[in-house]
Amino acid sequence: MDFVLCLFSFLFGLCLGSFANVCIYRIPQDKSIVRPPSSCPHCGHKIRFYDNIPVISYLFLMGRCRQCKAFISWRYPLVEILMAFLSLALFFKFGFGLQYLLWVLFAGTLVILSFIDFDHKILPDVLTFPGIAVGWFISFLPGGISWSDSLVGLVAGGGSLYLVATVYARITGREGLGGGDIKLLAMIGAWMGWQSLPLIVLMSSLGGAVIGSAFILLGGKGARTQIPFGPFLSLGALAYLFFGRHISLWYYNMFV
Ligand SMILES: [Zn+2]
Repeated sequence: MDFVLCLFSFLFGLCLGSFANVCIYRIPQDKSIVRPPSSCPHCGHKIRFYDNIPVISYLFLMGRCRQCKAFISWRYPLVEILMAFLSLALFFKFGFGLQYLLWVLFAGTLVILSFIDFDHKILPDVLTFPGIAVGWFISFLPGGISWSDSLVGLVAGGGSLYLVATVYARITGREGLGGGDIKLLAMIGAWMGWQSLPLIVLMSSLGGAVIGSAFILLGGKGARTQIPFGPFLSLGALAYLFFGRHISLWYYNMFV
């Protein structure tokens, strides 16, 4: 494996993580993700390029704004490092090429959506709708899934959650799943094909149930806090992307 390319994919991931932070912060506020340049949320001081180097600037400034010394959230370097490792892992999986770039885009979108869902309990349409369209569009390119698997995945992903959401709302009179979750699973289905959906839904529901129960046990009153499902769907999709074949084989050997 070429060391220079590994290093490049890691650094590329760091920079994408930096951009992902901008998206996570600005998209829910309907602000442009291109202009103006980043500034300190506390004092408005414009962040110079040398203070905007992923991770390194954060460590150098010891997590504070150069101007007003206000603390900067540790989540910024965390998202950068997360994207760097995702980019590196995708490089190992696909090698350097179009498939690598496309899946980095997919993983980056999932990271942005997950953190926005954490913060605001929404999955913005400006991300999921283009995500669905791009997923289906790239299925016409060579090297991926067929356009029909993608289309069935899109419809089945969105449709199955829509059905679950409607039935749940009928029975309980409360809204359990948001429209954003429906569009997110449609996007995942369009990118990964319908075959991926059962395992992704199973893994994300299990994850959501475990974390949800833990919250109820620990939090008491916090039981009513709505736990966003988007991060679990995203984690499920990424787990399937990297380990889907292994998990399917293991499952087959265990139970069939
Ligand atoms: Zn400041």
